[in-house]
Amino acid sequence: MQCFTKAGFCQGEKLAANADLSAVAKARGIDFFLVAFVDLRGVLRTKMVPSSAIKQIQRDGAGFAPAATWLDFGPHAADLLVMPDASTLLQVPFSPELAVVMGDCFIEGKEVAQSPRAVLKAQIAEAQKRGYVLKSGVEAEFFILSAQNDSISDERDIQSKPCYDAQSMMRRYALLADIVKTLNACDFGVYQTDHEDANGQFEINWHYRDCLTTADQHVFFKWAVKTLAERHGFRATFMPRPFSNLSGNGCHIHCSLWSGEKNVFEGKESISDLALQFLGGVLAKAPSFCAVTNPTVNSYKRLNGAATASGYTWSPNRVSWSGNNRSHMVRVPDNDRFELRLADGAVNPYLLPALMMACGFWGIDTKADPAKCSFPADVNMYEIPDGSPKLEGIASLPRNLIDATRALESDKDLSALLGADFMRAFIKLQKLEWADFSAHLSTWELMQTLDC
Ligand code: ADP
Ligand code: MG
Ligand code: MG
Ligand code: MG
Ligand code: MG
Repeated sequence: MQCFTKAGFCQGEKLAANADLSAVAKARGIDFFLVAFVDLRGVLRTKMVPSSAIKQIQRDGAGFAPAATWLDFGPHAADLLVMPDASTLLQVPFSPELAVVMGDCFIEGKEVAQSPRAVLKAQIAEAQKRGYVLKSGVEAEFFILSAQNDSISDERDIQSKPCYDAQSMMRRYALLADIVKTLNACDFGVYQTDHEDANGQFEINWHYRDCLTTADQHVFFKWAVKTLAERHGFRATFMPRPFSNLSGNGCHIHCSLWSGEKNVFEGKESISDLALQFLGGVLAKAPSFCAVTNPTVNSYKRLNGAATASGYTWSPNRVSWSGNNRSHMVRVPDNDRFELRLADGAVNPYLLPALMMACGFWGIDTKADPAKCSFPADVNMYEIPDGSPKLEGIASLPRNLIDATRALESDKDLSALLGADFMRAFIKLQKLEWADFSAHLSTWELMQTLDC
């Protein structure tokens, strides 16, 4: 148990999934629970439940109209009932009368197979069958914007290479400190915060955990960052590329695989042979799963993106990897883990680790060989032009959401691995998103075409 002593706040012991939340509310002084779930477009949905009603909600679930969320249900569908998982409870350090609890989605007694937390739990069950636990850490970058006009909130944050700039960080110190104290009072184990490579952009790093804990923490992290930014009079965004001249918001994931206390990814000089096969699966399937890791129209302005003021986009163009090299889609920073740098700030916190396991275990089963996508450590991937013979056999990443969605749709392995219910719902929603975007008449079109 860790104490947030300065603010006098203490997060209680971690609870069992079925702990009596009504009793917990009395013991910890909780007045309200946000019973929450994340839908397929990553939107956090909640019901605010007073502690006097939490006993009944724990028994019956919190009710939602499923068609009012992105889970692919019609208006005729029966109630979506969200059952709180008390083990995820976090009492909110900056509003201790409030607690957030993640839930699992059920309709008519059946778990909603396409709900993102259920998709992840199915992969965790598969990992468990194999005797493994995936541990993950995420780096969810974000911008702090002005609440008035969505520009960068700090007008003095103008350097072309602003990464790690102390003064730009000090001008947002009060907000950043509140976020970090909040996370640490929730036992995140934050070890560093920095100004990132774009003006107005920051990153907060916390300790890796089993991937379900990290996914639930990732959800809480985004909620806490946005909520605290608003309390400080700003707006925080995880949008993949909100500014065309600046680096976008990535969401790198670091992965290791554990059998009890042993990290089976750990090799001698680099990662183990098992880790290489796992990585081989992730690399082979990246062009197909890009629609999940990079799920919005805007995502494709970060991938394959135009150069930025700082000199680099820091995001991948192609399916490649080497050692400790940030110009590739996968980096191997140490001999015990790899880092996928593909996903962006819009990625669903549950689907990202689910994909890693689905593709990684597929890689182990098929003995996937990552060697064909590997490069010597000293290659700068951004300097290799399209069409170069060095790129023979190196896959490109999709250029837009509809290409990515079609690639996902045509990958029958992924459908079998992630489940037909998820695949059908997700692809339908992605196609709807593309249709909506295509129907939007943009300023660019008018500029280019009015005088045709
Ligand atoms: P970088 O910016 O160099 O990619 P960061 O320090 O920003 O790295 O983030 C590293 C992330 O990787 C953190 O969340 C950290 O906890 C996590 N991590 C470190 N070791 C492991 C590991 N063995 N398995 C999974 N995640 C790890
Ligand atoms: Mg109503
Ligand atoms: Mg980082
Ligand atoms: Mg970063
Ligand atoms: Mg990183």
